[in-house]
Amino acid sequence: MIPKTIIEKQLAALSASLAPIREEVFTWAEQNIFLKWGVLSRSKFYCLECAHVWKPSCQSTCAKFTTCPACVGKLKMMPYNQVHFKETEYFAVVETCAGFQVVRMVISHKHMKKNFTPTYFHKEVMQHWINPKGEVCTFALAVNVFSSTLDAWKFYSPLEIKPKDFIRNAKFYINPYRVYPQMKTLPILKRNGFKTSVYDIAPHLLFSSLLSDPIAETLLKSRQLNLLQYYLGASRQQIKRNWQAVKTVIRNNYKIADVPIWEDYMELLRYFKKDLYCALYVCPDNVHKAHDHLVQKKRELLRKKKLQDLRLEIEKAQKRYASDKKRFFGLSFHDGELCISVIEEVRDFMQEGDDLRHCVFTNEYYGRKDSLILSAKMGEKSLETIEISLSKMEVLQCRGLKNKPSKHHSQILLLLSKNLYQIRNRMKKKKTKKISR
Ligand SMILES: [Zn+2]
Repeated sequence: MIPKTIIEKQLAALSASLAPIREEVFTWAEQNIFLKWGVLSRSKFYCLECAHVWKPSCQSTCAKFTTCPACVGKLKMMPYNQVHFKETEYFAVVETCAGFQVVRMVISHKHMKKNFTPTYFHKEVMQHWINPKGEVCTFALAVNVFSSTLDAWKFYSPLEIKPKDFIRNAKFYINPYRVYPQMKTLPILKRNGFKTSVYDIAPHLLFSSLLSDPIAETLLKSRQLNLLQYYLGASRQQIKRNWQAVKTVIRNNYKIADVPIWEDYMELLRYFKKDLYCALYVCPDNVHKAHDHLVQKKRELLRKKKLQDLRLEIEKAQKRYASDKKRFFGLSFHDGELCISVIEEVRDFMQEGDDLRHCVFTNEYYGRKDSLILSAKMGEKSLETIEISLSKMEVLQCRGLKNKPSKHHSQILLLLSKNLYQIRNRMKKKKTKKISR
């Protein structure tokens, strides 16, 4: 992007005037941002740090780490053997220029090969210029847009000013592995609580937030580092929502062990209408225990509420059911131990559905106007549930456990067919009653 506004032109000139990053900074990076590596090849250990080669003892060949006898480096073992090895990291250099806070991002490659000492490549790929209001302007190299990797920088392109949304692209949100310890920062950042550490937060994000967002400033000054990291991560809205509780946390100098769990716990406190000003609730000794306790409490409450709702629903349905089907109540047919009777209570529909694991209750068969539902039992045990069409006076369904017929199926059907006339009689009674009125 070509700089257009006065401020963009000013920044482009300032960026071009910055001194290149000094050699000693690269030397620091080479010693501090990479691991030391070793590799096992043809039953020999190769130190990729000092090029020493030695024969290992049997036990050490499968260890994840080993120590080089020559350079005494603690070597991480490469999980695979090949000719070239590469490690990539980012680091940042923090300086000031003309009243701006500048964060310079460098990509570093470490190339390793057996029998050689490593070689390095460093390239400044990005600069964040932050003004005292916390506004960020970013310069970066061009990238290969067709590459799927995150580090597809075109190393021979110049640092160019990027549009505002560039930094919001997750691909370019880079949190460097380390920051060069000699940092130069604006006095206003020190006033807003910055000392020497960025606490694993991307420096440009931390600085711009400290300059523009009083919440970030408060969290840093009160050393609520977990909350600060969480807040500048993905959860600004959540912390804002819980700001009252956060203030209680700060006042009590309470350290939150697990922020997401604590936030869940805040939601639960809110559900139970607890006072979020009160340290007793907001700062529990053991946040996991407090959280689990309320989860359990809420679960029980919901279960009770559900049961209560169900009870009310059944009561209501019972009234309707009784007025529809009362004339069939008391009907039952017997054949030895087998007994078929009309189901009289809606709650018995539920029991029948639970025992035989079918849907006679869930699908509300008690509400079907043209159906009469009976249960075939042997002693207390339900065998099958029967649906009879009142208009056709025939058996529509007769089903046992999981909708399959029981071994008494034909006996049940026979007993039913012999007694359908009794059901018919009860229907007639109602009709004659109607006529006589
Ligand atoms: Zn070595």
